[in-house]
Amino acid sequence: MATHLRIRLDHQPPRLWYKDQPRKPKFFDLGVSLVGQKRRRVKGLVVPLKVELLYEDLTAVARQSILEVDSPLKIGRSGYANLKLRIGSVSRGHDGHDFVIRVSADASAAHLVNTVIDSETTQPVTVRSKINHAASNKRKRDLTASSAGNSNDEPDAKGLQALASWCHYTTNLLKDLHSARPHCVYCKVENGHASTCKLVKSIAGYSHIRSLLEAKGISLPATSSSPAPSTKRRLSHLMEAEPQPRVPAYRGPGPPSLMAAIGIKSDNDNNVEPFESFMQAPPPLLHY
Ligand SMILES: [Zn+2]
Repeated sequence: MATHLRIRLDHQPPRLWYKDQPRKPKFFDLGVSLVGQKRRRVKGLVVPLKVELLYEDLTAVARQSILEVDSPLKIGRSGYANLKLRIGSVSRGHDGHDFVIRVSADASAAHLVNTVIDSETTQPVTVRSKINHAASNKRKRDLTASSAGNSNDEPDAKGLQALASWCHYTTNLLKDLHSARPHCVYCKVENGHASTCKLVKSIAGYSHIRSLLEAKGISLPATSSSPAPSTKRRLSHLMEAEPQPRVPAYRGPGPPSLMAAIGIKSDNDNNVEPFESFMQAPPPLLHY
């Protein structure tokens, strides 16, 4: 019976890669391991590798020579290999398509005759030549000045813009729930909120994300998905009252300004969860 192993990607290539960026490496890293059942690394077996350049739909790129390799193409006895690869052609030259790289075992190796090794495919890589600072500054201005969807060139900025827009929209929904009477739909406290009310925390969390986005130069859309004027006014009051762009290091007992701004009523100050313990971990989305 054949031994069944697989190649595992331990280190993905960059999602966006500039092939001609001055003073930057001309090759990117791709880390692979040989693993067995239960995804444990298998040591002691030398596996020659094959790399193929594909488009995202897994069709092969016609000119394979644009995928260059600057490292041994094999997994050694350690069970791990760090491949140094380069894609020598920009996505724009391929109808704007991203590339993926399939790493497989070279099945022609005689000692692997009774071994089945599954291949693995990387995340998509967008290849550009180099960072165009003038264009990226212009993009930033466009994003700040107008609504989402104007940028056709920067997936990250577009994603952040969408996130900002979504925060804006959702915060308004939460604000409406927050002012529901006679009692909070979540914590059930009448004419106010418990200090632990998750509705209140969620509003604070969204505001925090908004601050982080603004610190990255992403602002809320001017018109699209904007709430009714009255809600908007209340929201802007909330947002302005919020410390920018970082949350304060708050230590009880009094509620921080944001809590006060959104009308939290603390039934017992000693029960107030320190603001920082909630806000300590910034949203991981922004850390790529
Ligand atoms: Zn509540």
